[in-house]
Amino acid sequence: MSPADDYSVLASSPAAAAILTALVTSGPQSRVSLARKLGLSSAAVTKSARPLIDAGYLSELDATERTGPGAGRPASPLTVRADREFFLGVKLTGDELIGVVCDLTAKIRAVSHRPLRSSAVVDVLAEITAMTGELLDGPGNYRERTRRLGLAVSGDVDRASGLVRYSPFLRWRNVLLGKLAAAATGLVVTVENDVKALTTAEHWFGEGAGADSFALVTVGQGIGCGLVVNGRPVSGSHGVAGEIGHISVDAAGPQCHCGSRGCVEAIAGTSYIVAAAGTSTIDEAVAQARAGDPRVTAVFARAGEAIGLGIAAVANLVGPAHIVVSGEGLSAYDLFEPHIRSGFERQAFGAAADCPLSIRPLPFEEWARGAAAVSIQSRLVPLA
Ligand SMILES: [Zn+2]
Repeated sequence: MSPADDYSVLASSPAAAAILTALVTSGPQSRVSLARKLGLSSAAVTKSARPLIDAGYLSELDATERTGPGAGRPASPLTVRADREFFLGVKLTGDELIGVVCDLTAKIRAVSHRPLRSSAVVDVLAEITAMTGELLDGPGNYRERTRRLGLAVSGDVDRASGLVRYSPFLRWRNVLLGKLAAAATGLVVTVENDVKALTTAEHWFGEGAGADSFALVTVGQGIGCGLVVNGRPVSGSHGVAGEIGHISVDAAGPQCHCGSRGCVEAIAGTSYIVAAAGTSTIDEAVAQARAGDPRVTAVFARAGEAIGLGIAAVANLVGPAHIVVSGEGLSAYDLFEPHIRSGFERQAFGAAADCPLSIRPLPFEEWARGAAAVSIQSRLVPLA
């Protein structure tokens, strides 16, 4: 059996999957600590960890000296062998593919960018196949330990069936992307909405790790929001939840593409900022604001304030323990940040205003890492 085919270990043992998940998301731990965390006996942890060690997924760190009373054997913490298995992640935009190879702990090992000259399904599949081949057969020799590919797409995506119901930037409707990409690449494929994929990465491997509830707000062409409540992602009964981009914060504000007025996205989305600034690109608008042009500075201030009001609405409704504001639009986050905070503080109600806000830029590769994180999650928790 080749290493990448050795899948029976996790499939046959929910306890083994739980142990590996805990170590992947929280780092090295002793068997005793794992037993306590997972509600298992120490004997059950020892028994279930054994096949994972044999299959190369776990190893034992050197024993640490016991310092407490009532000694016994020193504990050897278990740790994940991150390079035991690799995962591909690809983010699809309207004009580019961004791909990464990640290890079991979602650390990026390789990156690739590829322009998309056509968004026809057959052309995009050909580019995905070329990109995965390039990543797997390039330096690092990842192919023999890689069986899975995660894809992230903006729009309405059904993760369970791998169906892209609607993706505005690709102009796709009802594309069975999971099935088509699996046939084209020979890999096990997951497909997820890009904001949800990024939320998964934060929940398992980022600032949201261990948090019972948090919200991730992304700022760019669109304004997205992913929510985790009671440890679980919120999808909404109609597949829509946390759409803060279309909360109206100014009834007399600019017209939004959704048909409403004064939506957060209509004030803070990249193309609206460019239009309001009267420049031809966002980089030009940023340069003018940084040069002190008061009119353009005011456009960013208004955008930051709108984002802050939208975030306050989330905090007031859901009360997350932590909010992360990120996205490629925040490469100029120094122009937004004070206004996001002041809008948030003005509108957040009572104790909701105490919710810590992390505001930071997001390299585009992080979206692809999110796609890989969903693939890792589906590997460890098949029904997640
Ligand atoms: Zn709108």
